[in-house]
Amino acid sequence: MILETERLVLRPLGVGDLETTHTYAGDTETTKYMIYFPSKTLADTERFLADAAFEWEKDRPAFYEFAVTLDGAHIGGVTLKPDGQNRQGELGWVLNRDYWGQGYASEAIAAVIQFAFQKRKLKKLVAYCDSRNQASIRLMGKIGLRLESSEGVRRYADARGTSGEHRYSLSIDEEDLSMDRGGREMDEKAKKYVDLFRRVKICSAGTVDAQGKVHSRIINVLMVDARGMFLVASRGKPFYKQMLESGQVALAASVQPNQSLKFDGKVKLAGRAELDEIFVQNPGLGEVYPGETRYILDAFWVYEGCGEWFDLRYHPITRETFAYGGAQEEHNGFEITKGCTECDLCRELCPQGCIEKGSPYHIVWMHCLQCGRCIENCPADAIVRLHP
Ligand code: SF4
Ligand code: SF4
Repeated sequence: MILETERLVLRPLGVGDLETTHTYAGDTETTKYMIYFPSKTLADTERFLADAAFEWEKDRPAFYEFAVTLDGAHIGGVTLKPDGQNRQGELGWVLNRDYWGQGYASEAIAAVIQFAFQKRKLKKLVAYCDSRNQASIRLMGKIGLRLESSEGVRRYADARGTSGEHRYSLSIDEEDLSMDRGGREMDEKAKKYVDLFRRVKICSAGTVDAQGKVHSRIINVLMVDARGMFLVASRGKPFYKQMLESGQVALAASVQPNQSLKFDGKVKLAGRAELDEIFVQNPGLGEVYPGETRYILDAFWVYEGCGEWFDLRYHPITRETFAYGGAQEEHNGFEITKGCTECDLCRELCPQGCIEKGSPYHIVWMHCLQCGRCIENCPADAIVRLHP
């Protein structure tokens, strides 16, 4: 099992790593807040490595001990211990202190998180740390783990005694997993317009905050696939909070010449795999968020919604609706009812000439501007509004 990141390679830890493992596992400063370390003797470290190697021999290891390597040098380890019953797992890590402060730990842990969710199909990861361990607390936030409890008690088996313990976690829900199964693929029409959003890239995104105030900003649709559109937002931005709290976003884009797109969608957090894929597809993002700083962003999946394309290039104008993810297409505008007396007035007034004679008269929806001139002037009040 090999995991690769931008700078690191993670491979199974084994008995051949004795000296490099003991360098950090036996160091009291490095392992100051670790329950199972420090290793007092080389023999203790050897036993630990033998256990790790034994697990790697199994089809389904009870725990995975990854060696973190940089240019071939072994500099640390990341542990994933799955709980098969509940599809949960516990993360742990340690790094040779010569390599601290350079983002290697978070880069390695991110790869193991991706492995846990995507390959081992776990739903939740937890990690614990001593409440005094500020470096670990900062790292938890950096890799996207959220504080779940600060009430724990940490018991060391030696003179370190007891201390407070924090519990952090990161979850992926069933629907996030269903993204992997591609269970909500869109039809060809929706795909055409979603691809257009991606090609246009720059669009405005509207959200509503907890007080009902409307906000908009310019964003990029950074990735689309059969599941929908994907955006990113950094966790510090109001945009992030508003999408997370409301679960909704409204997108609008100008398509040259004289066409436009809009989409009202439901949105939820996507996984780290989607964020990494977005960075692959948009290399320029790496200049704005170099290295590990990318993980201050989260990817958002616009998983459901309906939209409309509007084309002003020709007379009459043309519009078309589309939807995906189980949402229904929405046809706003107007409809002529049986109360129509066939007086012909609306046909004369319509700027697009999109009203046809008949009993009753009929509005050709795809060419209607939705200007309202017909409904304002119908003497028989025979026209109704389809939108609120
Ligand atoms: S103006 Fe009203 S009554 Fe006259 S044709 Fe149009 S819909 Fe019918
Ligand atoms: S809303 Fe305007 S464009 Fe549409 S049918 Fe009525 S008059 Fe014509």
